[in-house]
Amino acid sequence: MKELKERILSDGRCLPGGILKVDNFINHQMDPVLMKRMAQELVVRLGGCGANKILTVEASGIAPAIMVGYLMELPVVFAKKRVPSTMEGTLTAEVFSFTKNRTYTICVSADYLHKGDRVLFVDDFLANGNAALGVLELVEKSGAEIVGMGFLIEKSFQKGGEVLRRRGVKVESLARIASLDDCKITFNE
Ligand code: 5GP
Repeated sequence: MKELKERILSDGRCLPGGILKVDNFINHQMDPVLMKRMAQELVVRLGGCGANKILTVEASGIAPAIMVGYLMELPVVFAKKRVPSTMEGTLTAEVFSFTKNRTYTICVSADYLHKGDRVLFVDDFLANGNAALGVLELVEKSGAEIVGMGFLIEKSFQKGGEVLRRRGVKVESLARIASLDDCKITFNE
């Protein structure tokens, strides 16, 4: 998506270790106009998957997910990163965080994810795919089905995209970054 790639080039910053900082329009300050356009593009690409529910992971996935859910008029569920003591019938999975270098538990109440659900997963970044694989595990445990995954930014020099596509998941990413070497942002296409 041209507009996103231009914004990444103008406002994105590379951090050591292959991290792209997009704090001024996605991850801290948010640009709702761009967020809406990105959601519209995800709907063009994934709206035909037959989803009845959008799933994301808190916190940074919530903004794009709610926009997609709004446009598709579908409920949006976010997996929590801490298991609340008040939650009953919880589905959980362990996820290793690439940016924080630690493992955490994601959870969703079985009330909001169950057999018969056709789930579209939306998130800000796809890197090594750990969050997405954790979500796949949650969805499998619930008896629901993943019908597609949409990301704003995929770092294709990390293995997540390949792993998910090899597993047969329909994956769409609006900007695919081929390299962040020497702090230079290069796109795949
Ligand atoms: P994965 O689980 O695919 O390895 O990483 C995806 C998650 O880690 C995303 O939800 C995102 O929050 C975070 N992440 C991974 N790489 C980056 C990055 O380069 N920049 C930012 N801002 N977040 C990232």
